[in-house]
Amino acid sequence: MKKKVKLIIVLVAITLLLPIKASAVTLGEYEAAVEKYTKELQEKEAKIARGKEEIAAVKKTIAETEEKIASTEREVEALQAEIERCDREIKKKDAESKKIMEYYQIENGNNAYLEYVFGATSITDMIYRMSVAEQLTDYNDKVMKELKQLIETNKKKKAELKQKQEELNALKKKLESEKERIEEEVSGVEGTVPSTKGQIELYQKRVNYYRSRGCSSNDIIGVTCDVPPKVTPSSGGNVSAGAVIGENGFRFPVNGGRISWGYGGGHRGVDITRGCGTPIYAVAPGTVYYVGNGLDVYGAYMVLVVHNVNGQLVFSQYAHVQPGIPVYVGQPVDTNTIVAYMGSTGYSTGCHLHLEMSRYYGWAYNGTYYQYINNIISPWNYVPSPY
Ligand SMILES: [Zn+2]
Repeated sequence: MKKKVKLIIVLVAITLLLPIKASAVTLGEYEAAVEKYTKELQEKEAKIARGKEEIAAVKKTIAETEEKIASTEREVEALQAEIERCDREIKKKDAESKKIMEYYQIENGNNAYLEYVFGATSITDMIYRMSVAEQLTDYNDKVMKELKQLIETNKKKKAELKQKQEELNALKKKLESEKERIEEEVSGVEGTVPSTKGQIELYQKRVNYYRSRGCSSNDIIGVTCDVPPKVTPSSGGNVSAGAVIGENGFRFPVNGGRISWGYGGGHRGVDITRGCGTPIYAVAPGTVYYVGNGLDVYGAYMVLVVHNVNGQLVFSQYAHVQPGIPVYVGQPVDTNTIVAYMGSTGYSTGCHLHLEMSRYYGWAYNGTYYQYINNIISPWNYVPSPY
């Protein structure tokens, strides 16, 4: 009875510990990530399309408003022309009236009475002349009054139109800022599309790869499917001369060479130099799962290998290597396999190997980059030093 209780406690403890230690990433999680980012992309594309429709609609309203402003301007100009015409007409009538008076006065002197005294053919003639002049000037006065009224009306109309124009200009300004706002929003969303597409591509690539390795949705990558070959003390096979092999089955990746930069103090790996083109061997048996220069931001060529140490995943990275990489993704390797040749690709000033290692989480294998970074270990935890 006591033994059973102990066993249960131990099992509970193991169960509690496992999720922390195990890299329990299923293929299904990658599939879900593809789905999630695909949905995100669709939403973004729909938002962009909606935004573009809105922009088109606002642009149309702006054009219509501009047309209204222009037609109002034409009306204002027409009214102004009318006002000027009336002004001219008034001046003309005024001049006419003056002329009539002048004519009357010049012909008759300054005094109508004198005309009568010195020259008028008759008093009737004089009265007639006076009344005609008066009628004409009266008529002109009437016309001028009407014209003045018309000017007043037109000025009022013009002021109303100017007011309308101001309102239209304000509306146009508002529409333009609205258009700018939507354009900014759209370009903001557009700016995030490439990264979403990148995420889809990244996870889709992994899904395709692990499916090709026989994994199904519920499989834990590297644990229940695509399990790397086990590293054992005798798993290295025939090893080339000059190789430094540890008791755990790991080896130093280069025959000879020297350490040009050690692990730690911001350096995530160990730098080894031995001249350009020096063969680099896998530090232990495992499976190649990445080859290329697409992961590193500086474009360094690298080979990534996953190892199985008593069921626990350990990862090794060989960086700055030459572009001609002799291994392929999915290839099983051992300590006698040349995985790369020493180079100086990426952020590097000379030929060297940057060897980087992690536990539980591998870069672009399972989990995120940050999970990987947080699980980086000193290569000396596994790899024997020749010095
Ligand atoms: Zn380095």
